Amino acid sequence: AAASSGGLVAYADSGSDAAVEKPQLPQRKKVVVLGTGWGGTTFLRNLDSRLYDVQVISPRNYFAFTPLLPSVTSGTVEPRSIVEPIRRILEKKGGEIKFWEAECFKIDSQNKKIHCRSNIGTNLEGNGEFLVDYDYLVVAVGARTNTFNTPGVVENCHFLKEVEDAQKIRRSVMDCFERASLPFLDEEERKKNLHFVVVGGGPTGVEFAASLRDFVTEDLSKLYPSIQHLVKISLIEAADHILTMFDKRITNFAEDKFGRDGIDVKTGYKVVKVSKDAITMQNPAAGDISVPYGMAVWSTGIGTRPFIVEFMKQIGQGNRRVLATDEWLRVRECDGVYAIGDCATINQRRVMEDIAEIFRVADKDKSGTLTVKEIQDVLDDIYVRYPQVQLYLKSKQMNGIADLVRSAKGDAEKESVELNIEEFKKALSLVDSQVKFLPATAQVASQQGQYLARCFNKMKDAEEHPEGPIRIRGEGRHRFRPFRYRHLGQFAPLGGEQTAAQLPGDWISIGHSTQWLWYSVYATKQISWRTRLLVVSDWTRRFIFGRDSSC
Ligand code: FAD
Ligand code: MG
Ligand code: MG
Ligand code: MG
Ligand code: MG
Repeated sequence: AAASSGGLVAYADSGSDAAVEKPQLPQRKKVVVLGTGWGGTTFLRNLDSRLYDVQVISPRNYFAFTPLLPSVTSGTVEPRSIVEPIRRILEKKGGEIKFWEAECFKIDSQNKKIHCRSNIGTNLEGNGEFLVDYDYLVVAVGARTNTFNTPGVVENCHFLKEVEDAQKIRRSVMDCFERASLPFLDEEERKKNLHFVVVGGGPTGVEFAASLRDFVTEDLSKLYPSIQHLVKISLIEAADHILTMFDKRITNFAEDKFGRDGIDVKTGYKVVKVSKDAITMQNPAAGDISVPYGMAVWSTGIGTRPFIVEFMKQIGQGNRRVLATDEWLRVRECDGVYAIGDCATINQRRVMEDIAEIFRVADKDKSGTLTVKEIQDVLDDIYVRYPQVQLYLKSKQMNGIADLVRSAKGDAEKESVELNIEEFKKALSLVDSQVKFLPATAQVASQQGQYLARCFNKMKDAEEHPEGPIRIRGEGRHRFRPFRYRHLGQFAPLGGEQTAAQLPGDWISIGHSTQWLWYSVYATKQISWRTRLLVVSDWTRRFIFGRDSSC
């Protein structure tokens, strides 16, 4: 989550300059942004909005700081502390950007129009539908929760995606405790009501389970002393481990800690059905088992929104699961459309697709062979265009391309080595195995928003000087470097004031001190001083008085 606060300050200044100079550019191009989440908001905050006629469309008129949603479910943080009205964000940019609270339901890329529907009230003329033209469209609509079509999930489970979801979960937890306290229930029914099930052992499911356990042991146990021993929290994961995207050490620590904390971690179980009273899961050894539950939260990954699926069919991506862009975040074959964040994925170009072209460009003396020096001369370009090459060399602990060349040639003399096209192909044949897909995180979405805004800010410049630094491949003559993700690390809060963190360079840190790192990072990443103050005061209030259990 790398929203730059530096950008904000700069814009406050340029906004007032604009008022004085009024750089009225005739016929500004129309930029339409879909979504006010991590991707869309970061794009808007970094865009020089004087250069374009900007319109923002989203069914939600605020930005939500999603990493703190699990804290909202337990009342550690209040809902209003993690949201910032989008109009306030836009106002800081000089108020030139228009916002429509509506949902896009169709993208017509042929005519460069989008179809929208206002979701406020139903008595609007023509169902509140309207059309918006664009020159450039930035699709940042995020994803939806994926139920894998498991029966009963939509009807009976909570999701944890939006602020309302977190509020509903909190209310539902309290309802379960109150219901379990009623005088006419027997022990079994009390147990059922106090069985909380979390489906999905990814970062969100794990953090939610941990924060629920804290809420129960630190706060609710005092208020419901006669039933607290009946509470059970289960975490169900289909894979063999939880937190599989993290380092093994973190996974092990989390599983051990949850074991000690009394969270029942069921790995290797796949939920196949959810009814009003029971969850049915499958395990190769144990077969089908059904367990009664009081409340369930479904958190097993994300899927594509239906109107994006339609759009993909329309542009020939119907056989894909996720909308694909190139490394410049442009939707292929679709003039002026960009996509960032959870709704899209970058289709990294493979070295093997371009190997002949790379060879031709590198072979400056047209000798039909490449020397180490010839390869070295184009290496920086290759690294920029195909980051997998660098990752491959690193994974094989090779120091540079010379090692690769030598390995392709057996152990021939370093200086005199020359590769023909076949040998060059062989040398690079495995590099594409290192192509990495970026995770669906706020960190990726915001870095993409920032990158794209910078490209937009320099677009005019680029159109006038199309010759860019990337020379490999004919089609690839771009002014801008492709998007490059910088991983700043990831946290996994595990409850009891303990957090695990995986930082760049595979640096692992686990424990109470990491929890403090977590507090400081998330305080810093807040989008405004208002939310920062609110979040910090929520944390302070929690330390002093505990969590609030009324709702
Ligand atoms: P979103 O932020 O989801 O924004 C999508 C926007 O599009 C919303 O404003 C939505 O209202 C709008 N929209 C939806 N449909 C339409 C439509 N039809 N037309 C117009 N607009 C539309 N990531 C991390 O890096 N660190 C974390 O700690 C972390 N914790 C998380 C905890 C939880 C509980 C959740 C749910 C997510 C967490 N994430 C975290 C992931 C992160 O929130 C997402 O990766 C990120 O929000 C993706 O940004 P986005 O802009 O693609 O989508
Ligand atoms: Mg967004
Ligand atoms: Mg968001
Ligand atoms: Mg993505
Ligand atoms: Mg040569």
